[in-house]
Amino acid sequence: MNSSMIGKIEKARRYTQEPERIRILTLAARFHGSNDDYALTFEEERWHCVCHSFAQFGSCAHIMAAQRLLAPMLPEAGHYERTAWALDPGSSMIGKLEKARRYAAEPERFALARLDATFHGSNDDHALTVRDGQWRCACSFFGQVDACAHVLAAQRLLAPMLPASARYGSVALAATT
Ligand SMILES: [Zn+2]
Ligand SMILES: [Zn+2]
Repeated sequence: MNSSMIGKIEKARRYTQEPERIRILTLAARFHGSNDDYALTFEEERWHCVCHSFAQFGSCAHIMAAQRLLAPMLPEAGHYERTAWALDPGSSMIGKLEKARRYAAEPERFALARLDATFHGSNDDHALTVRDGQWRCACSFFGQVDACAHVLAAQRLLAPMLPASARYGSVALAATT
């Protein structure tokens, strides 16, 4: 492995301690529930889920779990505190919160299908995407070797939510283990 890649892996390890460097702009994921799967998205600063609870209240345990898991990487508008409830969930809220807490401990229930984010690097911001299980970063290093500290850090932070093809490459694994 070339020495500049080792430097990137070290940088990625540092970046993993600073998840707020990643700003999620849009995402699409599937939530694997006990009975059913649900598609959820965060787009144009709004969450959406296909489940009944979302249709009724404007949020749901799936979105609340995602909000917990991704909190440091979400823009202000995506945070739980900013949820625009369509209807006051009242006492049914307690059950949903408990469910969300449980789901947040099981991040592998989420399968991230699409992601657009910016990575706030040491010198510059870089556009970071996941499409069809493949990462891309707009930085010049990624252009050379199809990997960079930004992608490696994002892979570590989002690991259980990623499809197999978007997890650590064999290069990163060989160096980190
Ligand atoms: Zn839902
Ligand atoms: Zn990069």
